[in-house]
Amino acid sequence: MFKLFKPTYQADSLDSIPIEMLKKEGIRGLIIDLDNTMTPWNDLEVGPKVAEWFVKVKEAGISACIVSNNKSKQRVGVVAENLGIPFVYRATKPRTIAFRRGMDVLGTGISDTAVIGDQLFTDILGGNRLDLFTILVIPISDREFIGTRFLRRMERILVWLMKRVDPIEPKT
Ligand SMILES: [Mg+2]
Repeated sequence: MFKLFKPTYQADSLDSIPIEMLKKEGIRGLIIDLDNTMTPWNDLEVGPKVAEWFVKVKEAGISACIVSNNKSKQRVGVVAENLGIPFVYRATKPRTIAFRRGMDVLGTGISDTAVIGDQLFTDILGGNRLDLFTILVIPISDREFIGTRFLRRMERILVWLMKRVDPIEPKT
């Protein structure tokens, strides 16, 4: 049962995900979470490192799409527009429909799409249900919705358990 919560790859932050690795894995499209993955919760701006990373992604011929459960079209849209990438809001992750919508926008499929996010219960679980390449990042800030805070606690317990029972093998 842990398998569904196990990311394919882990990184400290979005901008530390090696683009060479994505290319090597045959990734052509990225479904990227917004809150706490790209920006602090409900923030409108991405940091300079993240912006630079998106430029390199584009140069590598990889498409990106924001897929966020955030209910504000305005908020998700502003960040996407600034980066010149498409977006899906009110996405209902971990439902698989959310990821299918992302792939529709990207024009990619199961074998060449990666999911990037900071939450095991939405981003990683949903991506794994479709057998996508999943990448877990450390959340940018602790400032977040109270319901999420509860899930975080559960996540920490789960991560601890997984480390003991089923360690992730380092990927080269
Ligand atoms: Mg998030």
